[in-house]
Amino acid sequence: MAQHKHAIDRNELERVVGEITKEIRSGDDWGEATKQIGALSGIDTRQFGIAILTRDGDVVCGGDAETPFSIQSISKVFSLELALEAHGDALWERVGRDPSGDPFNSVIDLERQKGHPRNPFINAGALIVVDMLLDTRGPDAEVQAVVEFVARLLDDETFDLNDEVAKSDNDAGSLNRAMLNIAKHFGNVRNGVDKIMSAYVRQCAIELSCRQLARVGRFLMLEGPDDAANRNLEAARRSRRILSLMMTCGLYDGAGEFAYRVGLPAKSGIGGGILAIAPNTASIAVWSPGLDESGNSKLGTLALEMLTDRLDWSSFGKIRTL
Ligand code: GLN
Repeated sequence: MAQHKHAIDRNELERVVGEITKEIRSGDDWGEATKQIGALSGIDTRQFGIAILTRDGDVVCGGDAETPFSIQSISKVFSLELALEAHGDALWERVGRDPSGDPFNSVIDLERQKGHPRNPFINAGALIVVDMLLDTRGPDAEVQAVVEFVARLLDDETFDLNDEVAKSDNDAGSLNRAMLNIAKHFGNVRNGVDKIMSAYVRQCAIELSCRQLARVGRFLMLEGPDDAANRNLEAARRSRRILSLMMTCGLYDGAGEFAYRVGLPAKSGIGGGILAIAPNTASIAVWSPGLDESGNSKLGTLALEMLTDRLDWSSFGKIRTL
């Protein structure tokens, strides 16, 4: 194995994760859970988990890292990977690659854009990605493809898909249906609205623990010249491009603030999870159900900010360990 210039010291990682977990848990402002999905709104917000998988394969966990939570929009990263595998650059004829500056479920821009969503992580764009995956498969097969993708990266470790959460999301899905109808009007939707919704809400309803999510995120980590992903240059290039979209669009209208504070590409979900990637270094999952005004985990963001500062892991360069 090649010697990494900046070796990751497991003891230091454990110490920092322990400190952060303690500091986060000692606060008393846990924020509020999403109100959008009834089945998620009653959750106990006084929960916090963190898991870090390093490029060397070490896993360091803190807090409620084994508690499964609803991954919601984090699933958009997995469906995007599958759609890019299936369609390649043709995907960009139907979805853009720019930040929107609007909330994740906003419809306002879609008419102006003639049914062409700004990026694949706002709901409008993610729904078009699902539509593209349905071109070759029905809704059950689409969900199955996302589930199988996750299962493969977890070495077949078990996880659930919560039907009650999916139903609740579908029941609350008027805006998502509106987006699909606008895009359909402009000729950018191929399948039926209900068929797309059915697949979308179920991929969002996958439940993973922080430890599991960090493992799944490994395909985005770009570990280095020795790892399998880099032997397949096309897959590595795809991961790097997905990371760029995560940096600019992964936290919606909070993406700029998050890049400023944390400095890592990441994807959030309204279940309170965030998957963040320190390129060539680590895959990191945090979870705490209380959200900020953009629908991103409040304490999850704070924990990542502490982590990147203390370990000098910002994508924008090192200031201590060079
Ligand atoms: N299923 C949710 C929705 O469609 C996902 C939103 C999110 O996690 N940001 O609104």
